[in-house]
Amino acid sequence: APRTVLISGCSSGIGLELAVQLAHDPRQRYQVVATMRDLGKKGTLEAAAGKALGQTLTVAQLDVCSDESVAQCLSCIQGGEVDVLVNNAGVGLVGPLEGLSLAAMQNVFDTNFFGAVRLVKAVLPGMKRRRQGHIVVVSSVMGLQGVVFNEVYAASKFAMEGFFESLAVQLLQFNIFISLVEPGPVVTEFEGKLLEQVSTAEFPGTDPDTLSYFRDLYLPASRELFHNVGQSPQDVAKVIVKVIGSARPPLRRQTNTRYTPLTALKAVDPSGSLLGRSPGGGHGNLLQ
Ligand code: NAD
Repeated sequence: APRTVLISGCSSGIGLELAVQLAHDPRQRYQVVATMRDLGKKGTLEAAAGKALGQTLTVAQLDVCSDESVAQCLSCIQGGEVDVLVNNAGVGLVGPLEGLSLAAMQNVFDTNFFGAVRLVKAVLPGMKRRRQGHIVVVSSVMGLQGVVFNEVYAASKFAMEGFFESLAVQLLQFNIFISLVEPGPVVTEFEGKLLEQVSTAEFPGTDPDTLSYFRDLYLPASRELFHNVGQSPQDVAKVIVKVIGSARPPLRRQTNTRYTPLTALKAVDPSGSLLGRSPGGGHGNLLQ
């Protein structure tokens, strides 16, 4: 029987691509429940799904920040059984800390971290009963290494890494696997939305030196970086498809080999001096 795969955040980007690729699996191994917060945005996904729509792919409403929405979504799945959960929904936040509200920061944690925790709590009892399951988490290289002006986003991904690494240990007893997928920059709406917000944001209360560091050094470097080494959501989805299809899924999987040395910094340089050794401060070294 095909495995039921529930994916959060499928209206765009990596989630959409992953849903479509799994639904088109030549061996038809998957029944995909592609979820999104706002069903008004399902057009792009439905068009990309083509003939798979209503066959190997169904679209459902799911807001990872709402208990009710999660319960409602799971109650609509046949047998209520999720074999593979992909925690993909996420939001970014970038800018000088002084100019960001606590509410905006909390929203990042509510979505990225607690959103994933909420879904896991909902599917775990069933997976444990069946002694079978796979939980895939779309983390980030920023879940392994902090990046300047991304403090809160990186912290939310670090939180995911710590949570799922801890959970992985007990779940092995139940034949349930956890996989943290860690992309580098990916060219999706994610980055577009973020840079758009940032270019008009005022960041009240931020001193001019910090603002200039952010606007004149960080932002141009960041745009260049996405342009030069950014992956496509298709490429990232391909890696996730492999992870889902493997008999012994890995605990961690990076999607962009350029980032492998970077994420080893912590182990090889406890002094932290390698972090800031370039004109752009940490940014230069970290992201190039
Ligand atoms: P994206 O913005 O296209 O996709 C994120 C999706 O999450 C959107 O469809 C959005 O509507 C959805 N979402 C946000 N809040 C939600 C909520 N409360 N409930 C349900 N859905 C919600 O961007 P993407 O790049 O495809 O992001 C997917 C994941 O990849 C995120 O977790 C992101 O942190 C991670 N990631 C992205 C990059 C990158 O550079 N784009 C790099 C590493 C990791």
